[in-house]
Amino acid sequence: MIFFGTRGVKSTIKQGHFPCPQCATNRAYKHKKVTKFFTLYFIPIIPLGKAGEYVECLSCKGTFVTRVLDYNPNNQGGNAFQSVYEEAIRHSMILMMLADGIIDEQEMIMVQKIINKFGHNDISRPELEMLVAAVQRKKEPVDTYLSKITPSLNKHGKEMIIKCGIAVALADNVFDETEKVMIQDMARAMEMPPSRLREIIEETTAPQ
Ligand SMILES: [Zn+2]
Repeated sequence: MIFFGTRGVKSTIKQGHFPCPQCATNRAYKHKKVTKFFTLYFIPIIPLGKAGEYVECLSCKGTFVTRVLDYNPNNQGGNAFQSVYEEAIRHSMILMMLADGIIDEQEMIMVQKIINKFGHNDISRPELEMLVAAVQRKKEPVDTYLSKITPSLNKHGKEMIIKCGIAVALADNVFDETEKVMIQDMARAMEMPPSRLREIIEETTAPQ
């Protein structure tokens, strides 16, 4: 009996340091390539071309599309991705907090925690309150900044943001109808399939 098939083989093209959007600091990365091989007895024989490339952060193990490497902080206009990413996190988390019409103390604490986890510059409570006032004043839809970072996020990155949004919604122990609508808007802005969103909601809201 002869076994043949195809298999994806990962190889590292390049490594270095990059501003990891998830760690929010400079981290070591590996730029990896997946090549499809024709296999015989599970041994790769003939390369069938590139199946995909991605960048993996060696600290958080997050994976990103290779475009994330284009944002070199040493270049002019650099760090553009990081600043839009931070803006998107701040904006969407604050909107989530405001969704049910009540600024709950537990939600405030959660939003501050998430913003400071993802951002380069920690914000204080008064700074957060100023941001909240600005978001309330501007009334921009949740996809305003999220849709700008969507092309640079992979599945993992999008799911992180959705899980943070759910964490804010659940901080006051109630997953309100308006909060559910907001999560759906966030998922839509990031082009996440509704079926995957449902799974994430089930995973995160299941009793422990
Ligand atoms: Zn990382």
